Amino acid sequence: MTNRIHDSLQDDHHLKVEESMTAEKWQAIIDNDATYNDQFFYAVKTTGIFCRPSCKSRVPKKENVCIFQNAEQALRANFRPCKRCKPTGERLPDSEWVALITEYIEKNYMEKLTLETLADMSHGSPYHMHRTFKKVKGITPIEFIQQIRINQAEKYLLHSDRTIADIAMSVGMPNTPYFITLFKKKTGHTPKEYRKLANKVHKSEGM
Ligand SMILES: [Zn+2]
Repeated sequence: MTNRIHDSLQDDHHLKVEESMTAEKWQAIIDNDATYNDQFFYAVKTTGIFCRPSCKSRVPKKENVCIFQNAEQALRANFRPCKRCKPTGERLPDSEWVALITEYIEKNYMEKLTLETLADMSHGSPYHMHRTFKKVKGITPIEFIQQIRINQAEKYLLHSDRTIADIAMSVGMPNTPYFITLFKKKTGHTPKEYRKLANKVHKSEGM
């Protein structure tokens, strides 16, 4: 087994690793056609995940898809196996999966994020994603998103003169009253109070 994989790795070395997309393959992806399983795998550049043709995950944009002949090739091109259709036959460990999701949140907290968005990008059901995330991190995905947003807002309050509404907007919370309520709930102060207090502390420390 090891030898066979090793040989195929060497053979492929001189070949073009990515297969070409055809109308037939694209149709199989759209139809989640299981008869094409093991004939090819498809990876989505925007999520870094690869799937079997039968995967029930949302149909990706065609221009973001690349086709691989087998799972090893997709893995070598740095794609990760989808949690839902398990193209390598094994599950991605929960901790790695959650790491993917937290990384995505940290890069996209300024955008509108919902459980559905996260479930789509990570190829799991919203319910399963929520549960697994909480098991691994001790807080829910939504709480994690809020934490990241409030932390970022604190930085803006401290280090800029931007208005509260402007800050709320740039941490992904365009509804300012809601932002203020959440900020107070998490920190014990309104954003205005927080800025005042923080500035006082700064001055008394002679900074
Ligand atoms: Zn999949």
